[in-house]
Amino acid sequence: MNTVCNKNICTGCMACSDICAKKAITLMSEINLSYAVIDEKLCVECGRCRQICPNSSNIEAAFPQNWYQGWAKDERIRLNSSSGGAASVIAKAFIQNGGYVCSCVFNNGMFTFEITNDINEIKKYAGSKYVKSNPTGTYSRIADLLKENKKVLFTGLPCQVSALKKYVGVLQENLYTVDLICHGTPSIKVLEIYLEQHGYAIKDIAEIQFRDKNNFRLKGLTRSGIQDSYIMAFLEGLSFTDNCYNCCYAKSERISDVTLGDSWGSDLQKEERNKGISLILYQTEKGKSLVEKAELELKNVDIDKAIRCNGQLSKPSTYSAKRDVFMQELKNGKNFDGIVIRLASKRFIKQFIKTCLIKLKMFRGGVYRLTIKTKM
Ligand SMILES: Cc1cc2nc3c(=O)[nH]c(=O)nc-3n(C[C@H](O)[C@H](O)[C@H](O)COP(=O)(O)OP(=O)(O)OC[C@H]3O[C@@H](n4cnc5c(N)ncnc54)[C@H](O)[C@@H]3O)c2cc1C
Repeated sequence: MNTVCNKNICTGCMACSDICAKKAITLMSEINLSYAVIDEKLCVECGRCRQICPNSSNIEAAFPQNWYQGWAKDERIRLNSSSGGAASVIAKAFIQNGGYVCSCVFNNGMFTFEITNDINEIKKYAGSKYVKSNPTGTYSRIADLLKENKKVLFTGLPCQVSALKKYVGVLQENLYTVDLICHGTPSIKVLEIYLEQHGYAIKDIAEIQFRDKNNFRLKGLTRSGIQDSYIMAFLEGLSFTDNCYNCCYAKSERISDVTLGDSWGSDLQKEERNKGISLILYQTEKGKSLVEKAELELKNVDIDKAIRCNGQLSKPSTYSAKRDVFMQELKNGKNFDGIVIRLASKRFIKQFIKTCLIKLKMFRGGVYRLTIKTKM
């Protein structure tokens, strides 16, 4: 099978697919890989896909000018988001100032991207989806808006921001970008296998949440506050695609205007931490204006501590021998939960003890949990 770049380093950003006039490039997902493949029957060997590939050139990055922790002043937005709701209020202010926003949504079993200038649509973007999203078609649609002199804000993973910037090239004057600090992304195949083993087909799911910080509806996979094995594998770094372990964006120098993450290690009060606190960094004047216009409560943050507590501000997630075992056993059709119990036994035992304490009403539980709502 012909690929655009080496499939082990392909991020699945899909800029190559958008640039292809013959529509010859699609995303292939395997358990440990998500990569672009070329349909040789359609390919005319123009070479544009390889030129646009972010893996073929160096990416310009800058150390943040300013570091904050903070949250959306609107408590409903804050509680509906994964950390402090910064992504939503930045998008809201951008639309209020006449722009379009683009970000990831879950729809019909797929994690794709939508563009809107309707403020009421923003809430559907909220929430971290701990899985590889598919931006196919997004870059060309954004480029079209930029050509019409529209302002566009893109929020996504660093590899996607990098691809977008390369795709639009000189059209960057009206482009604003927010990237997420990223631990790594599992292929959608991993999520599908997990759900299938629990009796769900991804296409039948109407809503999916990977974290809960509030009382979300639980069509339960686990008891409230307890990590399920999909999330345990994610947090242990067992389930990412191959490229994530060599991610060139996992560092303090960032390629976007604004970078968002969780303010791990925050010294603010527990009550605030329980509601979610975003880490908010900006690298450029555009980033400064995005942060200043958003309805955000901003607090100072200890930069050294923020970097220390957030591993992917200094290096990619660590590749381990356990990760190979995880992938091999999943490929061999073994039980997902069983694999995780063995490979992440310490985390599993901790979650088991938490379950007992919650049953005894001695503990409220944590924030990471996969929550789904099936279609009626
Ligand atoms: C795969 C992944 C790994 C992450 N790893 C870390 C980490 O290691 N450390 C850390 O501090 N933060 C990490 N984050 C970021 C964190 O989970 C929050 O998204 C971030 O703090 C912003 O929170 P928020 O409350 O401002 O916005 P949220 O309500 O979380 O909204 C986030 C925005 O990102 C978009 N988005 C969500 N999932 C995806 C996706 N899969 N692909 C593209 N765009 C997406 C949403 O559409 C939305 O616009 C990760 C996020 C993802 C998606």
